[in-house]
Amino acid sequence: MRLPPVDRAAPAVAAIQPYQPGKPISELARELGLSDIIKLASNENPLGPSPKAVSAMRAVEPELALYPDGNGFALKQALSRHLGVGMEQITLGNGSNDVLVLLAEAFLTPESHAVYSQYAFAVYPLAVQATGAQAGQVPATADLGHDLDAMLAAVNEHTRIVFVANPNNPTGHFIARERLRAFAEALPANVLLVVDEAYHEYLPPDESWTALDWLDDFPNLVVTRTFSKAYGLAGLRVGYAVSHAAVADLLNRIRQPFNVNALALAAAEAALQDSAFLQQAFRVNRQGMAMLEENLTRLGLAFVPSRGNFLLVDMGRPAGPLYEALLRKGVIVRPVGNYGLPNHLRVSIGTEAEMQYFCRALEQVLNES
Ligand SMILES: *Cc1c(COP(=O)(O)O)cnc(C)c1O
Repeated sequence: MRLPPVDRAAPAVAAIQPYQPGKPISELARELGLSDIIKLASNENPLGPSPKAVSAMRAVEPELALYPDGNGFALKQALSRHLGVGMEQITLGNGSNDVLVLLAEAFLTPESHAVYSQYAFAVYPLAVQATGAQAGQVPATADLGHDLDAMLAAVNEHTRIVFVANPNNPTGHFIARERLRAFAEALPANVLLVVDEAYHEYLPPDESWTALDWLDDFPNLVVTRTFSKAYGLAGLRVGYAVSHAAVADLLNRIRQPFNVNALALAAAEAALQDSAFLQQAFRVNRQGMAMLEENLTRLGLAFVPSRGNFLLVDMGRPAGPLYEALLRKGVIVRPVGNYGLPNHLRVSIGTEAEMQYFCRALEQVLNES
């Protein structure tokens, strides 16, 4: 049989391990014939999208035959006001995943090097490896956090980007303001510092600082955010980067001309104005997190304290069978063996009812096995 010339593909691409997404509800429904399924696997917002975002999408329906605004003017203007940054500093993406990949494409070549932490977001290695650049994965601290000193030491003359997720996924770790500030100051100015704030909106008020405040101090700083998590728009794919205008200009050269679709642009702009929805998402997350922590403690399970909308739980034994047993009860969580954490499961925070159901299912599954 004749094969396509896959042996001629870019060597770096052939070596990539594909991303493993959380199992979709429809897939589990197909496999097990279940109808009542809860998904706590991808850190989505259990409240769904903001009603304001939904009406904004309805209003766009008549225009769907037209290309979207390739410059995303209205959303950028709304973000500019919301964040107090210039429109020319904003790069919109098809999810923040898109802008992370654009950053890698714009700054990395096979001769260069990028740094990120062990147990950091899985998209960093993917984005780096696709460019053929050398991936500098720095071992985490004993508690699975970013080892900023070691990351700084890993920076060499070839390093072009350092990725820091704050809060991080899948661990939920949060780096204190002074520590990240010191890191930004110590980092050579010719290395891009990408601070991924995908879970920023879940930070409690007393910790709700943002690296956006430092953009004037560090021209090499890029902050990424998303509408996929607290804003409840994961299915639409929209996120953004805020950077120096010169970095945004570079990213603009390589992004697809219409990388954010019309529904996503309209929904994100409306969601940004719905602060009541965001507050509700924050409250539900706090309550669900407290309930989950209480139950895990009662069951004798350890977990990493999390500033996100998920909890990384140490099952104290291989987590694969527990994951499978939970699936049979209609509960989808996230195995993290691909992160090198075979004994852990990552559980997204759902509604009160979902968390009650999950805690019961977990207890049963632990007793059965
Ligand atoms: C979910 C997540 C993202 C956002 O992904 P989108 O592409 O915007 O949906 C980015 N960074 C981290 C750390 C995440 O967990």
